[in-house]
Amino acid sequence: MIRQAHVGLDLLTLASYIFNNYFIDIYFGNDKIMTEKISGPDACGMYCNVMERKVMKKSTGKRGNGGFSLVELIIVIAIMAVLVGVLAPQYLAYIHKAKVAADQANLKNYFTEIQLDYITTGKYNPAVYSMASDRPDSLKQREIHFLNGSTAKMQAGYFSVTEDTRGKGGYNIYYYCDECLSDNASVKNKHLDTCATTFL
Ligand SMILES: [Zn+2]
Repeated sequence: MIRQAHVGLDLLTLASYIFNNYFIDIYFGNDKIMTEKISGPDACGMYCNVMERKVMKKSTGKRGNGGFSLVELIIVIAIMAVLVGVLAPQYLAYIHKAKVAADQANLKNYFTEIQLDYITTGKYNPAVYSMASDRPDSLKQREIHFLNGSTAKMQAGYFSVTEDTRGKGGYNIYYYCDECLSDNASVKNKHLDTCATTFL
């Protein structure tokens, strides 16, 4: 919800910019008005400009350059709003998938590293963060601490590491994206299906 509101705000800004700087100039534009717009005070923002231009248009009786009518402009802006409304969720979903893929790639490397460590040493490494029971955040880690000292932050979720639950030794890693905690059941189930990953 927050992300969509943010996109909506960006659209409003873009639409205002185009409306104020492009379409209005075509519809009402002439040299005199343009000059006033540039040099005059702009205390009341875009809507003030629009009102001033409407007044001047009536007093001069000019139709501008034969550009778009106001209704046409509103239709164009409405179409843009619908397009963005349709495309923005797909774009956000695409970004989410990319971040989840990055998390999974990092965790796969980490899993390989700690499994190899277990096979080599024959015991669980205390440096594997989750394995320490005195760390209350160990079940929801957002940063990988590789055994070689490097780190990688999670982009879209969290993970935990446990001892292998099948009795074969080594580790299991469980990854969930943040949407897996959604209050919306359909969103939650969708992400549990597509994003949640177990490394065994
Ligand atoms: Zn997800």
